[in-house]
Order: sequence, then C-alpha cells, then structure tokens
Amino acid sequence: MADDMRGGLAVDGGSDLKMILSFVNTLPTGNEEGLFYALDLGGTNFRVLRVQLGGKDKRVIDTEFEQVSIPQELMFRTSEAGRDVVACLNEAMERQGLDMRVSALVNDTVGTLAGARYWDDDVMIAVILGTGTNACYVERTDAIPKLNGHASSSGRTIINTEWGAFSNGLPLTEFDKDMDAASINPGEQIFEKTISGMYLGEIVRRVLLKMAEAGSLFGDPVPEKLFTPFSLRQVLTPDLCAMQKDSSSDLEAVGSILNNTVGVRSSLTARRVVLEVCDTIVKRGGRLAGAGIVGILQKMDNDSRGLVFGKRTVVAMDGGLYEHYPQYRRYLQDAVDELLGDEISSNVIIEHSKDGSGIGAALLAAANSKYA
Ligand code: ADP
Repeated sequence: MADDMRGGLAVDGGSDLKMILSFVNTLPTGNEEGLFYALDLGGTNFRVLRVQLGGKDKRVIDTEFEQVSIPQELMFRTSEAGRDVVACLNEAMERQGLDMRVSALVNDTVGTLAGARYWDDDVMIAVILGTGTNACYVERTDAIPKLNGHASSSGRTIINTEWGAFSNGLPLTEFDKDMDAASINPGEQIFEKTISGMYLGEIVRRVLLKMAEAGSLFGDPVPEKLFTPFSLRQVLTPDLCAMQKDSSSDLEAVGSILNNTVGVRSSLTARRVVLEVCDTIVKRGGRLAGAGIVGILQKMDNDSRGLVFGKRTVVAMDGGLYEHYPQYRRYLQDAVDELLGDEISSNVIIEHSKDGSGIGAALLAAANSKYA
C-alpha cells in the first residue's frame, strides 16, 4: 500500500492508486460563519444538509438533515451521461429560481477529514467504509513529485488515495475472482471488493452456494434464490450483521433471515455454518481495512522520519458499514493494534465521525465562498 501510494504521488498513472490532488490546502479553522448547504451523493444514499456556522465561539449553531435512497434507475449510466455535475446542479438551481451557487465539489473522504479536523487538530486520515470505500490523508507537498514544485502556502495538501483500486499482492479466493468477473467493472476496485458493504454479502452468498451445491448445506434441491448474483446487494450486508447479533441457542433470528432472503428452512447446524462463513468474510474485510490504514500511517511516518507515530494521530471514520457493523469495527481495530504494536497503537485514535462529510463539505464551501 505504501509503495503504491508513492508510485501514484510520483506521476499520474504511476500505480493502481490514483493519489488525486484535492486542491484542499487549508483546513477549516473554526472561524467559518454563515448559512451553507451540503449535498452528499453516496453509493446508496443521497443526503442534504443545511448548516448554520457561527464562527469560533458558537461553532455549529444549527443543522438540518434529510436522507433519501437513490432510486435504482438512476444508478446505472455512463460517466458521460453524468456530465459535469456542478454545471448540472447550477442549472437545476437556476430553473428552480434559487439564488444559490455551488462553491466547492468535494470528495466525501476529503469532506470527512475537513469535518473532523474542525473539532480536532490531530485528524490526519479519513476513511469511508460504506457501500464502497476510500481514504484520504494530509500529505506534505514536498513528498508529492507530481506537483512539480507547486507548493501550497501551508506546505500540505489533502490527497485522495482512491484506495479501493489497490490490488498489489492481495490474496484472493475463487469467490473473489468469480464475483469480480461477474461485476460491472471486472479487474477494477479489487480492495473495495474485499472490504466494502456492497460486496461482503455477495461473497457470503457465493460461499454458501458452493456449500449448498457441494455439501447440501440447505438440503436438496439447492434454494433457487442462492443462484442470483448481486440480487440483494443493498440488503445482504445488513443481514450478515443482523445474523451475527443472534445470541439465542437455536439461532432463531439467523433461521428467519435465511428464510426471508434465501427462502429455506435451515437446520441448527446449517445456521452455525452460515454464521461462521459471515464471520470469516467480515473478519477478513475488517482486518484488510485496518491493514490499509496501517499502510497509510507507515507511509506518513517513514516519509516524515518518525513524526507520525511519536504523537497522537486521529483517523476519522465514516460510512454505513463502519457505523452499523460492530464486529467489522472490532476486527479493523484489532488488526491496527496487532500491526502497530501496543505502544504506537495507543497514539493512533480511530474514531467515528458521523456525517462529518456533509459538515466538512459545508466548511470547505464556507472557506472557499465569496460570501465567507
Ligand atoms: P453510501 O454513502 O455509500 O451511500 P452509506 O455510508 O450510507 O453508503 O452506507 C451504506 C452501506 O452500509 C450499505 O450498502 C451497507 O453495505 C452498509 N450498511 C448499512 N446498514 C448496515 C447494517 N445495519 N449492518 C451492516 N452494514 C450496513
């Protein structure tokens, strides 16, 4: 991960990691004031946030928030048909007679970092684990050869790693490979496909299908619903989480979820096997995500000759998978602790920054707005 980060910082196309310059060189100070809106377009949900910022003392005076699911029919188009989103949004607001302008287009990880930094100066990394995944971090401009000497006044800038595209040396199973081949973007976003919410449930489905076919896990015949790829991708990962919450002796909740999603009556043995499969896939996902965070931290520490691990460093986390899946969160934290060791990991604080992305985008809009 650290090597690929360096490759992407050296030259565009230098590795799987795009290491995109965010052009955000100054982070929020807390002095921002005024009324701002942020629109957050995720892989599943669309959120609208209205924030009243009151400056240094009053900080966030008021927020209003609404969230809707993105309709399926809007999810499948080419990026050309997505056109320039800022131009589209400005045109739409004009059509509605609104006296508003878009002042910043912000990646959601960058928004999360900015939002968390507003409250805590030690935030250096932000990670989203939702439908998809991504991470960004604060980099020194002298460590970015592709900037060709264009330093920012702060000497730092936020780099959007697009780490979902990482694949170098990732061990993949037959289930990962088959899922990738059947996906809309084969060969791409391999790290994302092993750790993020859109895929965990689908990998479990593929493992269960093989167990049903080869070992009659659910008896005969193999349940019809187990054959459909990506059929329940929105629902599946929360289902894994709900099944893992079941602590009853007969695993009744697991049984009823299997009945609803796969359409089978399951034996207790089968339920136990399903839980073990869920746990295995979620454990791998959480641990790989943790390893990715350690990769970024190690890169930052090596290149600053030990300036990162010697002090408190905060990693701001957001996204539905991280927020709602306690086992995933625990596996992630365990991997970070194991890889860094007790002493260093006690300095690394991994914390949830709920909906920080919207507030962060609003803060960046404020900092870059002619009204600020
Ligand atoms: P996005 O911003 O990408 O639209 P979110 O951050 O809202 O997505 O996260 C949505 C994803 O989070 C879902 O696709 C699902 O994978 C995961 N998720 C949502 N609720 C749960 C839950 N209860 N348990 C586990 N995962 C969940």
